[in-house]
Amino acid sequence: MSQLPDPLAFLADEVAALRERHLYRPLRVMSSAQGPIVSVDDRRLISLSSNDYLGLTHHPRVCRAAEEAVREFGAGSGAVRTIAGTMAMHEALEAELAAFKETPAVLTFQSGFTANTGVIPTITGETDLIVSDALNHASIIDGMRLSKAPRQVFPHGDVDALREILREATEQGRPGGGAYHLILVVTDGVFSMDGDIARLPEIVEAAEAFGAAVMVDDAHASGVLGRNGRGSVDHFGLHGRVAIQVGTLSKAVGSLGGYVAGSLALREILTQRARPFLFSTSHPPAVVAACREAIRVMQDEPELQDRLWANTRRFKAELTRLGFDTGQSETPITPVMMGDQETAGRFSDRLIEEGVFVQPVVFPTVAMDKARLRTIVTAAHADEQLDAVLAAFDRVGHELALVTG
Ligand code: PMP
Repeated sequence: MSQLPDPLAFLADEVAALRERHLYRPLRVMSSAQGPIVSVDDRRLISLSSNDYLGLTHHPRVCRAAEEAVREFGAGSGAVRTIAGTMAMHEALEAELAAFKETPAVLTFQSGFTANTGVIPTITGETDLIVSDALNHASIIDGMRLSKAPRQVFPHGDVDALREILREATEQGRPGGGAYHLILVVTDGVFSMDGDIARLPEIVEAAEAFGAAVMVDDAHASGVLGRNGRGSVDHFGLHGRVAIQVGTLSKAVGSLGGYVAGSLALREILTQRARPFLFSTSHPPAVVAACREAIRVMQDEPELQDRLWANTRRFKAELTRLGFDTGQSETPITPVMMGDQETAGRFSDRLIEEGVFVQPVVFPTVAMDKARLRTIVTAAHADEQLDAVLAAFDRVGHELALVTG
């Protein structure tokens, strides 16, 4: 057999270069269910790496709902929503989510990622302007790339800069002449790498002053902020003033999916135009049933959200007392700043040896010298597990001279 040259041979060089620069991230393979304790490489580790805020990935009611749905409705939906993939349960989930979010309507997507890449290019075009926070999630950035609308980025959390962009855009209009048709201000509700909360009341006020619409991506606020985890709009009492709320069903809700909450007309146009909705198969029954039950559990068991916050407060306070820098976090996402990626990688490896599973986050997910360990304590962590985690952080912190005293 003749040996043809491999046209993709350059990929191996790219991987080698990543390894050399400590930017290669091996996949850690779990052989257990998600939860506060996981098995990685045949070791039992306390995990601070999941987004399973409320422990709903393994909640008995949620699992039972999924099992019953498989038995009654099968393993898959078999089609995209617009052809033969809309089951009564898909519509029921959306009605229940709309009631939960206190919005007129909801449309679900296959993920939070596809919710963003679906909604943004559907509602914006050449005559519009998108104004985005510099630290918005990759799926918002991709959604903007798929839109024909021009975009402007304001420095993270800088509402004065946002106001200036809005002022200029409304005073000067479009470069080709005429006013912008829609100005859409987009922000994460909780920023996924820093754990800080968007200054939503000020953002909404600025947008209202210039007739702009606000879209908030509540992936990390769902289940975490607001009554029963209704999100950042509820947290700040801004109902009716945020045109679009994106949420995920993949983190606190414990399963998989995303949704867009807003007006009925928004839902309707998305059912006609949003490409992930039109061209990708709908959720299987088990996922829909799990999400529906999880939304009920969130309302029936508010103690889960209370426990999440109690654990969060304790963990942050103790890390700070031990001398770690936890950045600007205000939520259960607690970054532990490491500086360079090599230290972050070594710290994470040593924690695994100490029985704690925490992943480093390095460039390009965060800026080059802002490498960090990204931790999330959940409602499911027991006090003794947090004791063990903090002791391990203390030991490794001293060993790598990241903390003193
Ligand atoms: N938006 C934000 C802010 C996120 O952090 C994430 C998940 N990393 C997503 C959207 C995507 O959500 P999903 O995992 O449901 O695709």
